[in-house]
Amino acid sequence: MASAHVDADVRFLALSRPDFTVQDAERIARELYGIDGKGKEFYAERDRSYYLRAEDGREFVLKIVHADEEEANIALQIEALNWIARQDPGLPIPRVQRASDGVQIAHRRSADGRQHAVWMLSYLPGTPLMDTNPDGATLRELGRVMGRMDRALRGFFHPAAGREIVWDARMAPRLAANLALIEDATDRKLLESIIAQFAADALPKLNGLRAQIIHNDFNFHNVLADAAGRIAGLIDFGDMIHAPLIVELGCAGSDAALDTDRPLERMVELLRGYHEIVPLLVQETDLLFDLIQSRHAMALAILARRRAQNMTEQNYLESYAAPCLKSVRMLAEIGRERACAAFRAAIEPRSSVSVPKIPTGEVDADRESMLARRKRVMGPQSYMFYDQPLHMVRGDGAWLYDVTGRRYLDVYNNVPHVGHCHPHVVEAIARQAAVLNTNTRYLFDEVLEYAERLGTTMPAGSGLTACMFVNSGSEAVDLAGRLAKAYSGHSGALVMEYAYHGWTEAVEALSPEVADRVKPHVRTLVAPDDYRGAHRRGGNDIAALYAADADRAIRSLAEGGHKPALFIADAALLTNGVLDAPVGWLQGVYERVRKAGGLCIADEVQSGFGRQGDAMWGFELHGVVPDIVCMGKPIGNGHPLGAVVTRPEIVQALVDERIFFSTFGGNNVSCAAGMAVLDVLEREGLQENARKVGGHFKHGLRTLAERHDLIGDVRGRGLLVGVELVRDRKSLAPAAPETKRVVNRMRDLGVLTASEGPHGNVLKLRPPICFTREQADMTIAALDQALSEL
Ligand code: PMP
Repeated sequence: MASAHVDADVRFLALSRPDFTVQDAERIARELYGIDGKGKEFYAERDRSYYLRAEDGREFVLKIVHADEEEANIALQIEALNWIARQDPGLPIPRVQRASDGVQIAHRRSADGRQHAVWMLSYLPGTPLMDTNPDGATLRELGRVMGRMDRALRGFFHPAAGREIVWDARMAPRLAANLALIEDATDRKLLESIIAQFAADALPKLNGLRAQIIHNDFNFHNVLADAAGRIAGLIDFGDMIHAPLIVELGCAGSDAALDTDRPLERMVELLRGYHEIVPLLVQETDLLFDLIQSRHAMALAILARRRAQNMTEQNYLESYAAPCLKSVRMLAEIGRERACAAFRAAIEPRSSVSVPKIPTGEVDADRESMLARRKRVMGPQSYMFYDQPLHMVRGDGAWLYDVTGRRYLDVYNNVPHVGHCHPHVVEAIARQAAVLNTNTRYLFDEVLEYAERLGTTMPAGSGLTACMFVNSGSEAVDLAGRLAKAYSGHSGALVMEYAYHGWTEAVEALSPEVADRVKPHVRTLVAPDDYRGAHRRGGNDIAALYAADADRAIRSLAEGGHKPALFIADAALLTNGVLDAPVGWLQGVYERVRKAGGLCIADEVQSGFGRQGDAMWGFELHGVVPDIVCMGKPIGNGHPLGAVVTRPEIVQALVDERIFFSTFGGNNVSCAAGMAVLDVLEREGLQENARKVGGHFKHGLRTLAERHDLIGDVRGRGLLVGVELVRDRKSLAPAAPETKRVVNRMRDLGVLTASEGPHGNVLKLRPPICFTREQADMTIAALDQALSEL
């Protein structure tokens, strides 16, 4: 909508357009821009706007501006477009063209002698969203693109942005008088009540919210999509003003609500996309419903006024009238309360999430067909969680949402370490992906800054300063194995019985949990299980007794003709059933391995990044310093990333032997993700949270054990907890089938866990470490119920 200026009482300017023809436009383009092209006129309310195709195929838009328009308003648009193009070059916006003499605003007189500003933009192809009936995915993408635009505009200012225009949401009360011109009494009353409500309630709140210069007119004529439904263009910056940020979504939201019987769902998609890029506050989304309704009411008020003044001839608002009224009525029926609840759910602030929804009884009708399809298109591979697999559609914090809208408390996944879809991580990934993503054969800052930052998390003086980046935990361990072999010159490996370190062929050999047989170069060490192992809690010097097993393994390796290149362990011994290894055990093993010439590798893929509360890294809790540290899973909060941190001379040994290069390892986007995870850990104090909430969790579980004999032991640290279920506390007979039933029952109760350990009788509790006390209590309540029902 082209801008129309207002006086205090909202004056409507005549819509007479400058007196120019298409031929004039072609001539002006030739004279001012040196562009020889064929022209065609676009519709514009007050200005003249022409499409021009140059002989060489380039396409432009030439604008000849109404003589009454202040030039500052054009300068505002030009400077904003230039600014956005610098901040976020990937955004699909028109680029300002300079005239042959270098100016961005030129001038021409019309036949009546009046002087008109002339400027030119590149032309963006695409179909206006108004004509494409956009689906949810397109609306979500529009939300993201709008978010990027507003983020790009954050630091921009121009004095003309303070002007008054009719199409300013805050102008609604001053336009209300025009509603009297609407004949239908029911419609009139409804629209008047909308504006009255807006004036009384929304407007005062709106004025207290964050504001900046915004586009202010993302109606669906101004958004272009390509044939695949992707957003291809954002155009018409003529209504830009300084306004509350949420107004931007009010504009687009009101068009999203047109011509649909699901206005709320469409607005929610838009909102979600925007929120991914520019996290919104509840105070903002709570005003969205009123903004959308009042924008509809404003459009109808302006239309009524224009009709009354017989200005309907070129008034495209006419075509708006019927869908607009329909939408107003439908939204009134839905009501503010429901809409606000839907908008709140869409941005789901972590702090207000506490109680899981009661099962709705809705079923996932697609499950069976999806399982069959999965088999068809992915082959008959690997098992899925739970007897009734879940069809997930969204994650947020410690919550996962399935397709029926039911939410599940995620007490299992350690990958979304700082919370599913954490906005800071999402934003970092999106921002970097829009600027540059390449490989480490070029110099760039992101990988250096990230390596430096990751290095600072290692113990001071450890020499662990060299970071190598790969794409997964398995790759990290694979690389660590190669480093150890190259540095030690040995070929043997020592691993924990029942360990898992990854799926590559070399690493599978180090993973007795999945390896079909132990390879000749590998020996396993007995797990220091002080609950059901050979040496138990309370016994004398059990750490030394377990550590001594390394002597046996090293001897056995030697008998097979191998010296140890490496010993690898996850210090929290998760696959062994989340063991509390006795203090001194790991130190004892490290000493023996080093004496035999091997390197010690810490696999922190599961237990690192502050999860255990008392330290950033699992090995620190054992008082050891490894030679190589492997990282994966939580490191990128779900973005595929793996890292190895070691001493430079160990890297040198590998480099002397062979070239190492991973195309994706250490790319800019992965580094941005990894950096963002470290930011969140620090800013939100999540290691400390893991310590506190983990302590509360473990205490609650131990209290529960007083009432359920099946709970034999509660182990672990921070938010890495194992609950071992036994049929008999004396014989320690593992309660494996019961554990499986508990896991499935808890899933039905809305809490996701899994079983672990050589006997499959340990509940592994490993939530995102933004986990709250309330969520810990919910988990305990669900476990209590599942155990009671057994
Ligand atoms: N090490 C440990 C301790 C793990 O738990 C895993 C994965 N479960 C890996 C390595 C392998 O990581 P990825 O699946 O990312 O290859």
